[in-house]
Amino acid sequence: MGIKVSKFGGSSLCDAEQFKKVKSILLSDPDRRFVVPSAPGRRFKDDEKITDLLYRCYKLAHTGQSYSECFSQVVERFCEIVSDLQLDIDLLPELHETEKEIARQDDPDYAASRGEYFCGLILARYLGWDFIDAAEVIHFDRQGVFAPEWTNEQLAESLSGRERAVIPGFYGSMPSGQVKTFSRGGSDITGAIVARAVGAELYENWTDVSGFLMADPRIIDNPRLIDWLTYRELRELSYMGATVLHEDAIFPVRKAGIPTNIRNTNAPSHPGTMIAVDPNPAGDERTITGIAGHKNFTLISIDKAMMNSELGFGRRVLSVLEDLGISFEHLPTGIDTMCVVIADKELERHKQEIIDRIEESCHPDSIEFTSGVALIATVGRGMVNKRGTASRLFRALAVADINVRMIDQGSSELNIIVGVDGKDFERAVSAIYYEFV
Ligand code: ASP
Repeated sequence: MGIKVSKFGGSSLCDAEQFKKVKSILLSDPDRRFVVPSAPGRRFKDDEKITDLLYRCYKLAHTGQSYSECFSQVVERFCEIVSDLQLDIDLLPELHETEKEIARQDDPDYAASRGEYFCGLILARYLGWDFIDAAEVIHFDRQGVFAPEWTNEQLAESLSGRERAVIPGFYGSMPSGQVKTFSRGGSDITGAIVARAVGAELYENWTDVSGFLMADPRIIDNPRLIDWLTYRELRELSYMGATVLHEDAIFPVRKAGIPTNIRNTNAPSHPGTMIAVDPNPAGDERTITGIAGHKNFTLISIDKAMMNSELGFGRRVLSVLEDLGISFEHLPTGIDTMCVVIADKELERHKQEIIDRIEESCHPDSIEFTSGVALIATVGRGMVNKRGTASRLFRALAVADINVRMIDQGSSELNIIVGVDGKDFERAVSAIYYEFV
């Protein structure tokens, strides 16, 4: 079989007991040769993640306050794991050096990255595997933008000669040697980068849930797990708010055609969710794969008689938005109406300016703003071949007495998006879910 790259999230490595589970998962399959750890996460509800403690240390240090008490919590957590695992390593000298270095750095990335760094050191020692400092193999350019091809070459070269290794997640370095992190949750990205570099057969992402849920569990009680979804479906669901994986983690593996398997460290025999370029070869009867959504959008409806025959109308509207640096989400249009859907946070300061500029360049009959709209995406590649999906969806919303303000269905038929009043959001998600599940 091929190589498996296994990334473990912070909850999977929060204490020595979790380290033991991780070791047994890794040793149970010889194909699991490269492992990417996050920093230790929360052990209980009000606990703090190591990464959060480290960000706090940096902030205290750079606002002239003492951070020794905060840093001592970091030291304690790592020392406890080392002692509970009965490892023969003394991290104290390096931890004390790190404490001093945090105050010398000009940005928080170095501090934040040390959670993954020390976690990786401990895990490598515990497994008896090589440790590779991510600063040596994950590269960012001078502007701090991730350099995928440079990284891929160097990582592939560095890992090709090794049987097994631990590469800490979340960070790399810039040409100056300065440590740079990805955005929060970025160990997922490192895992995907490593999977691409070694040409893995599978990228395993171990977390504390058994996979991707069909809907938000805060809205639907105990939603069904998705056993298989394509990268395209995942992209649609993540874009609309579903979270399990960091969004940027999808690109390196998707590009290389490597499937991602979301697994649960606390239930390792559960197959989890498989995310792949292609649909499940075993076939799949479901019509929809998942539902996701967001509140706080505004619909801008621009009306003008005979709009359909006016050349350049749409371009002029969109140029106004582009000039103001506003990105739009959807563009459902009618014969004499053009509707633009924009997230409220994009719109904030610009409402009057948009009206003025559209009036000036397009001379519309009216411009209407409807705020407080929620968008719901019902995603599923199965919709293409099934007649009546849209009708079932809209009937379910009608039966629940929910007014649909906007509809957008791309020709890929992967996704039907509806806009409803924000106050109806949860009920609408429920109505759609129970219609199909
Ligand atoms: N430790 C980092 C964070 O908490 C990165 C990660 O866990 O993926 O965001």
